[in-house]
Amino acid sequence: MRILLAEDDVITRRLLEAQLKKWGHEVVPCSDGQQAWDQLNKDESPKLVILDWMMPVMDGLTVSKKIRELETRPYTYIILLTAKSRKEDIVEGLEAGADDYITKPFDPQELRVRIRAAIRIVQLQEDLLEALKTSEFRATHDSLTGLWNRYAILGILEKQLARSTRDGCEISVIMADVDHFKKVNDNYGHLAGDEVLRQAARRMKNLLRPYDDVGRYGGEEFILVLPGCNAESAVNIAERIRLEFEKTPVVSSEGTFPVSLSFGVATTKGKDCSRTDDIIGLADDALYKAKESGRNRVVFAGELGSRT
Ligand SMILES: [Mg+2]
Repeated sequence: MRILLAEDDVITRRLLEAQLKKWGHEVVPCSDGQQAWDQLNKDESPKLVILDWMMPVMDGLTVSKKIRELETRPYTYIILLTAKSRKEDIVEGLEAGADDYITKPFDPQELRVRIRAAIRIVQLQEDLLEALKTSEFRATHDSLTGLWNRYAILGILEKQLARSTRDGCEISVIMADVDHFKKVNDNYGHLAGDEVLRQAARRMKNLLRPYDDVGRYGGEEFILVLPGCNAESAVNIAERIRLEFEKTPVVSSEGTFPVSLSFGVATTKGKDCSRTDDIIGLADDALYKAKESGRNRVVFAGELGSRT
């Protein structure tokens, strides 16, 4: 494990460093509190720190307090190194945010077990954060395409509409649907169908601006949320996605075949139209028209709130 070691006394620092390295740890040595603080503010800083209490420029207690003020995740585990062994001192050290303390001169065996306990906490914390990240991702993403799921994309749309109502900026929504998707599944099988959805997701993502969002609305239907995008630009984006499919067939393990998409586009200018249902309803109607009039086309529904 990477351990930050801040100790102004050269001999103690070298002794500790040698001991920690002997146990297989990587050591980031610092000779005062300020150096330690600077190290801790870098990316990927050590999550286990050993701080001497008495140090020039900034003492270990101050560094501890500053670390705790940050409230960052993952947690930084602090062991205070001190020549002070009175109960009051130890209480003060722990109150400043240290998790544990070691009195100097240090006993290698004691140091070893305390480091071991610290590593258990740090690793447990890392595992928990990892699990949390995975479950957050699963709760908001579609497992097949990796896009936002319906719940998440509707949440994004709602937030963007609230912003648009406040700022009066435009926002466009594109509903996209794979034409004759059932036929793909019937003719080439479900694996090919899955591949169509994955490729649709990839192609749409590639053609969007970085601040646009796309989600799988359900089945073979997608929804694109384009903040600050007027009707003309939204129609252009839909058209570009449509053309991309027109010129590039889908390659799957079950064969190569053409796929087309139909699109419904709606735009709003905020004010009286902050409801997700309204703009989705409008885009959905346009998508229906695109399907009715022969598929493989983009239909613009009109602007919500253009009267205001
Ligand atoms: Mg000192």
